Amino acid sequence: MTQQLHIFFFPFMAHGHTIPFIDLAILFATKGVKSTIIATPSNAPHIKKVTHKANKLGYQIDTLVIKFPAVEAGLPDGCDDTDKVPSPDMMPKFFLAVEMLKQPLSDLLKQHRPHCLVADMFFPWTTEVAAMFKIPRIVFHGTCVFSLSAMEHVRLYQPHKSKETFTIPNFPGDDINMTTAELQDYVKQETWRTKLFNDSKETESECFGVIVNSFYELESVYADHYTDFLGRRAWHVGPISLSTKGVINKAERGKQYSSIEEHECLKWLQSKDRNSVVYICFGSTTNFVDSQLMEIAKGLEASGQQFVWVVRKEKESNDEKGKENWLLEFEKRMEGKGLVIRGWAPQVLILENEAIGGFVTHCGWNSILESVTAGVPVITWPVAAEQFYNEKLSVEVLKIGVGVGARKWKRLVGDFVKSEAIEKAVKEIMVGEKAMEMRNRAKRFADMAKKAVEDGGSSESHLNALIGELSSTAMKTCK
Ligand code: UDP
Repeated sequence: MTQQLHIFFFPFMAHGHTIPFIDLAILFATKGVKSTIIATPSNAPHIKKVTHKANKLGYQIDTLVIKFPAVEAGLPDGCDDTDKVPSPDMMPKFFLAVEMLKQPLSDLLKQHRPHCLVADMFFPWTTEVAAMFKIPRIVFHGTCVFSLSAMEHVRLYQPHKSKETFTIPNFPGDDINMTTAELQDYVKQETWRTKLFNDSKETESECFGVIVNSFYELESVYADHYTDFLGRRAWHVGPISLSTKGVINKAERGKQYSSIEEHECLKWLQSKDRNSVVYICFGSTTNFVDSQLMEIAKGLEASGQQFVWVVRKEKESNDEKGKENWLLEFEKRMEGKGLVIRGWAPQVLILENEAIGGFVTHCGWNSILESVTAGVPVITWPVAAEQFYNEKLSVEVLKIGVGVGARKWKRLVGDFVKSEAIEKAVKEIMVGEKAMEMRNRAKRFADMAKKAVEDGGSSESHLNALIGELSSTAMKTCK
């Protein structure tokens, strides 16, 4: 009898990472693989809730809790998720604690003896740990292959060293132009993140391969380039959020529960015409200053469009009182026309609603892919991470979006954008011939995405091929 393939999934402790990792573990479990997710204590209850539900549906999926050495690394006790890090200058300590997970991870591998370790891009050291147990390590970045390749070209050729504005060198497809202002700070100057970034890139080629949450047809030119030119083995198995049907309640995606009742939000949307509402949300970490939020409110009102706007609930402070007043007044004035959700929104559910005609996004890859999957065009407002690259793919390659004009990479707060630019971009995506064209293109990609994950589709085939290869590797190791 053949042994059941057992895979460990080890996500970085942040929403944008844990959400697709949970989806990925479920996806493998639906194919008969035994999936185990490694979670830190505060993330475990939510993950366990999902895995218990999957168990009831007959899937073999489990959660293992790993102790996070927060105090040992100089962080407050219980600080085991980036959400809990008290200030950005404590992030190096968070990553120090992450590196200290080497031994506890080894202990778990020794005890459970899985056949493969799928670990986050932020854990380059896991390749070495997996090698100690003679099992393959696979990287999961959570972003698209266009951005992975483009970032690697910038890292290898350093075009920004000689020019303020440059074309990504030796890159396939049409020219992709960038400015140094759009690049990550750690690419422009050496910081503690530079080593992490370099190590992460180097392990891509050293490890077994890379799982990509995207589908081949969406970015085939770059998928081929990533393998043929950059020499990475990659399996494009997405959109993985489409493959977890029945296991994850869409309103419960993410650790936090939606700040709004699912039915309240849907009832509001159901009263609206098709493609008549713009959705605005900037992911799980972006935290705009008050003056920026006011510009967004002004721009939305001036656009005359209906909207659902997710405003991150912030810690209470004296300044907040003033903010609450203007926001409350805005909400009141916009009643019926706009819905403000403070905190966490059921994003996938909202995007899938027929009333949604456009999405103002910070270009986190999960958000872009969720929009593509729902057939919704985007207004791109990149802030940090690899989001400027994701913007180029959406606007210049896929042509399903317009940029709002954010041109400076700035962690958490982004470039300041005036209300006039927001108003213009919202109108451009919601009304007129160009809006129709972008919407039609987005709908075509959505159809392709659905086909990719169906039986015999490209993503399903990639997944089967990967599972087949891992199974035969596991058999050889067991002999
Ligand atoms: N998300 C959500 N509700 C919110 C904000 C975000 O469900 O109010 C989800 C969103 O659907 C996506 C993830 O959180 O799956 C955010 O990931 P992304 O890569 O877009 O951005 P990040 O948060 O990593 O910057």
